[in-house]
Amino acid sequence: MTSTTEPLVVAVDGPAGSGKSSVSRAVARALGFAYLDTGASYRALSWHLMVQGIDASSSAAVIAALPTFDFRIGTDPDHYYVRVGSADVTDAIREPRVTGVVSLVARIPEVRQWLNERFRAIMAATPFDGIVVEGRDITTVVTPDAPVRILLTASEEARMARRSKELTSESAAAVGEALRARDQADSRVVDFMNAADGVTTVDSTELDFDQTVSAVVEVVQTVRTAHGG
Ligand code: C5P
Repeated sequence: MTSTTEPLVVAVDGPAGSGKSSVSRAVARALGFAYLDTGASYRALSWHLMVQGIDASSSAAVIAALPTFDFRIGTDPDHYYVRVGSADVTDAIREPRVTGVVSLVARIPEVRQWLNERFRAIMAATPFDGIVVEGRDITTVVTPDAPVRILLTASEEARMARRSKELTSESAAAVGEALRARDQADSRVVDFMNAADGVTTVDSTELDFDQTVSAVVEVVQTVRTAHGG
């Protein structure tokens, strides 16, 4: 018995630079599952506010703008995209100016609730057998009952080294500082540094990319086997 009517949800949380996004996408591909990058939605909202000239530090202004935020996110790991209205913002949302304000937007409870409802709707409607959902509060808030819940960690040193390789235009020191500041701001809102009860920790500090993907796939397969899948 391999398929059930409900998609198998794999919840993955972790700090910036833990390799969460690329690992989750590769895991989804390996398992034939969908992939939902929740951070991209927070980023897309930040981009939308910038373009509209809305001050991200004003909770009231951000909440008032939510009904105008029309976003679409691709969940096929082979066809990933993020759109706001008719604009393709897949690359634009990775720019440091967006990363710089995203924590402001993410700390607003109404924004989190609004986005969480959309994430749950996307998960429920997926045509795939399962979906890998990654972010900061997936194992604890978005889908705490998911059959597979993983915290993907790595030492601060390893995370910074990986991130500065991605952003070649910035100095390692600047990348490190920005990453630390963002983690600090984000961890005031949700705890993604410690595994909640029932969450499996995968520490990728000593693992390369493929080994990390295999470690996560193994956690999923173990749960599937235990459920007779
Ligand atoms: O994962 P990524 O670095 O793209 O996330 C961007 C930002 O979105 C995070 O720094 C955090 O502020 C916010 N976020 C969140 N909850 C999630 C996913 C992302 O608050 N589930």
